Amino acid sequence: MRLIGTREARRGSSARVRATRSTYAVRVYEGAVQDLIDELGRLPGVGPKSAQRIAFHVLAADPADVRRLADALIEVKARVKFCETCGNVSQEDECRICRDPRRSPNVLCVVEEAKDVVAIERTREFRGRYQVLGGAINPIAGVGPDDLRIAQLLKRLADGTVTEVILATDPNVEGEATATYLARLLLPMGLTVSRLASGLPVGGDLEYADEVTLGRAFEGRRLLSA
Ligand code: ZN
Repeated sequence: MRLIGTREARRGSSARVRATRSTYAVRVYEGAVQDLIDELGRLPGVGPKSAQRIAFHVLAADPADVRRLADALIEVKARVKFCETCGNVSQEDECRICRDPRRSPNVLCVVEEAKDVVAIERTREFRGRYQVLGGAINPIAGVGPDDLRIAQLLKRLADGTVTEVILATDPNVEGEATATYLARLLLPMGLTVSRLASGLPVGGDLEYADEVTLGRAFEGRRLLSA
């Protein structure tokens, strides 16, 4: 490796330096093994070490198990699509939730991703329907309102069936920006609009909560009845 002058180093973007370094450090195996490690390393949450561990697990595994994994990967791309109504993942044109007549058509819960639908479904607290935006407004990453399923949401609200919208975007900067943007669009339409409460984790300790979380918990406190 050649040493680069400080001025040159300063001019080079840190991202490029990082990329060069990781490519240099990671490409150590031959052919197919390295290709697999590279592909696995591109998955979210999989670092170079995990990618290597998974690749060697695959190498040692039974060919039938590996075939099943490969088939599952191909099938998911071939068969799973996004629900035409709400944007959730689905095997049909409409997802299971949109097809379920027992779900209330009057309440809509707006989430960022399909995995948020699963998280809310696990609580068994919500019996309405969903709108999956496909992300959150993020100007730095170049994601604007037009990149999300907001037009689809407005179209669903047009006939007046939905009377309440719950904004369940993530409690981070992008999620808050998206919720604020949507509230500004939806409130003038006369809808009941709410935002999920942010608060303290169950089983947590008050003294360890950060001030933003504790502040939100105060803001979202609820009255107790006898
Ligand atoms: Zn759906």
